[in-house]
Amino acid sequence: MTTAILTIDLNAIVANWRALDAICASNVETAAVVKADGYGLGAGKVAEALAKAGVRSFFVAMAEEGVAVRKAVGNDPAIYVFSGLMATDAGLIHDYNLIPMLNSPAQLVKFRMGLPDNAYGIQLDTGMNRLGLEPSEFMMMRDKAENAAQIISHLACADEPEHAQNKQQLDQFNAMTNGMSVPRSLAATGGILLGPEYHFDLVRPGVGLYGGEPFKAGKAVVNLSLPVIQTRQLEVGETVGYAALWQAKRPTKIATVAAGYADGLIRAMGNGPAMLWAGNTPCPIVGRVSMDLITVDVTDLNKVPDCMEILNQHQTVDLLAQSADTIGYEILTSLGARYKRAYIGD
Ligand SMILES: *Cc1c(COP(=O)(O)O)cnc(C)c1O
Repeated sequence: MTTAILTIDLNAIVANWRALDAICASNVETAAVVKADGYGLGAGKVAEALAKAGVRSFFVAMAEEGVAVRKAVGNDPAIYVFSGLMATDAGLIHDYNLIPMLNSPAQLVKFRMGLPDNAYGIQLDTGMNRLGLEPSEFMMMRDKAENAAQIISHLACADEPEHAQNKQQLDQFNAMTNGMSVPRSLAATGGILLGPEYHFDLVRPGVGLYGGEPFKAGKAVVNLSLPVIQTRQLEVGETVGYAALWQAKRPTKIATVAAGYADGLIRAMGNGPAMLWAGNTPCPIVGRVSMDLITVDVTDLNKVPDCMEILNQHQTVDLLAQSADTIGYEILTSLGARYKRAYIGD
């Protein structure tokens, strides 16, 4: 076996969705965000498993992603598109029964001209200044928005519960939408954990489904196993890898495994605290991460296994992310196209 294997536990994703759903009151719908190919884990497989478990609404970033999800879940679930109605989207949105989240006056005009009978949602900007109608823009069309399928906004600081902007955005969202009969949604994973006043009618977790922070109670979803290509013995003073960055201070056994930064195991993981695991035994990554290869100090192992793990229950996406000074989201969505993806609970 020369290919690294990414094992994705669909049962764990479903369990995480149920756990997030259980945090919210029973009249709050828990949707699922499956943008960026289901955070790198396969939008079709993930959406299919979640739809079977009872998810009725999905969110994607762009129309093309919505097509893949529609094919996986059939005609019943709602599929919302965060980017709204982009230049070439009208055909896909109509043909695949997608719901664009309209973000700007220009998108509203384009929608009314091109897809007047399609369902739509509205995204409001309550302070993140990324996507959505500004308060003044929304006030001018609020009366006409009563038939929207959903009105949403997004929190910029929800993973920091003490951040003052959470309450400011909550107040702004209430000020803009109170009195309307349209279903409302403000919370992603972080917002769910902020408390019930953030839940409104529908919550939209993404990363928490996939075992990532800030939902620390979530189950690990991914295991990434990398095959060992060869091992070698080093004398004291010999170096490993590009720039000869790591030098042996003792007689050292090095294993070289088949994955690198071209597979999303970014260069910043090299020579840091990240480990590869031989079963339950951690072995330090030494030297730079190469495009297709990683080198590991396996001196302390009695026997070098055929494969070593870089993501498992010991080293979660968030721990691996910390070792490279980034976030779990980026590790997940960078997981490489060369991995063989295997699904548990398929
Ligand atoms: C990505 C995204 C989500 C999901 O966020 P998580 O932090 O992954 O739960 C929800 N809403 C919007 C608008 C998003 O862009």
